Amino acid sequence: MIVITSNQTPEEQVKDIIGVIEREGLQVHLSRGADHTVIGLVGTVTPKLAEHLRQMKGVENVVKISKSYKLASRDFHPQDTIIDIRGVKIGGENLVIMGGPCAVESPEQIDEIARLVKASGAQVLRGGAFKPRTGPYSFQGVGVEGLTMMAEAGRRHGLLTITEVMTPEYVDICAEHADILQVGTRNMQNFDLLRKLGTCGRPVLLKRGFSATYDELLNAAEYILAGGNRDVMLCERGIRTFETYTRNTLDLSAIPVLQSLSHLPVISDPSHGTGRRELVEPMAKASVAAGANGLIIEMHTDPDNSMTGDGVQSLFPDQFDNLLRDLEKLAPLVGRKFSPAPQAVSAV
Ligand code: PEP
Ligand code: MN
Repeated sequence: MIVITSNQTPEEQVKDIIGVIEREGLQVHLSRGADHTVIGLVGTVTPKLAEHLRQMKGVENVVKISKSYKLASRDFHPQDTIIDIRGVKIGGENLVIMGGPCAVESPEQIDEIARLVKASGAQVLRGGAFKPRTGPYSFQGVGVEGLTMMAEAGRRHGLLTITEVMTPEYVDICAEHADILQVGTRNMQNFDLLRKLGTCGRPVLLKRGFSATYDELLNAAEYILAGGNRDVMLCERGIRTFETYTRNTLDLSAIPVLQSLSHLPVISDPSHGTGRRELVEPMAKASVAAGANGLIIEMHTDPDNSMTGDGVQSLFPDQFDNLLRDLEKLAPLVGRKFSPAPQAVSAV
C-alpha cells in the first residue's frame, strides 16, 4: 500500500500520517519526488487503516500495490535508487563500469588486471574467488585467499571490488573483503542466500537466472530488500533460448522493462550474455543505448590461458580500453554520465 501526498502538503501533516501508520506497527518508507511524496507501508494494512488514511489531511490518494513485490517496485519508490559507495554513484544518470577476470587466479594476475581496469577508467574490479561451475571437476576458484587478493588489488589501485558469493555461510567473509556482493545466475532463487544478503551491510548485484522472468527476478530482489538492505542492483546476463551460436541471448528489452517496473539500477553483462569476445563490444554499447546504468565486463591479460572457460568471452586489455573510450562518447548522447573512479576510492 502507498499513501500519496502532494509536495504542497505541510511537513506536519506528513508526520501525522507517518505517526498513524507506525502506531499500527507498520514500517514506513518515504520517497520524495518533484510533485509527490510517496509514503510506502510495509506490512498488512487493514481496510480500516486504509480508510482512515484516505480521510487524513494532505492525503491525495491511497493505492494498493497489486504486484507481488513491493519494495522493488517503482510504485513504492518512484525515484531511481542511487547507491553511493564511497563516492562512486550507481544508478540514475551515472554509468558504472565493472571490469576484471572471470576468476581471481593469483595476486599478480589480479593486481595487473586491476591496474589496467583503473587506467581505462572503470570504477569497480570484478573477479570470482568462488566459481559456480557446471561440472564438479572444473576449477572452482581459489577460495577465501582470492578475497584478500582482490581486496588488496582494489585498495592498491583505488577501485571498488565485486565478487560472487554462493552460500549463506560465506556471506560474512565476502562482505568483510568486497564492496559489492554478486549473486550468480544459478543462485538467483537461493532464498536462504538472498535472506542472508538482506542483512549483510553491502550492496548486492543480483543476476537474473538464465530461465527467470522479470517478475521472478524482482521477487528475488524483494527478498534482499525485505531484509533491510536497500542497495540492490539488477543484472541482465543473458537467458537460455533455442539459439546455440551465442552462449546466452542477452535480453536487451530487460533493461527498459526492469527500469519501468523498478527503481533499482540495472547493470548489463554482455560477456556472459553472449559468450563471445567479438560480441561484447557491440552488446555493451547496445546496453548503454538501451539505458543500462552500468556494465560488468570480463577482461583478462591472457584469456587463452584463463583458469575458467570464460577466456573466450574475455576482452583483451586494449579492447576493454577502446570500448571505454567509445562509451565516454556514447554515454552523454543517451543521458548517461561516465566519470572514472575518484582516486581516493579504496577497498574496505
Ligand atoms: C560470472 O560473473 O563469472 C558468472 C559466473 O556469472 P553468471 O552467474 O552470470 O554465469
Ligand atoms: Mn565468468
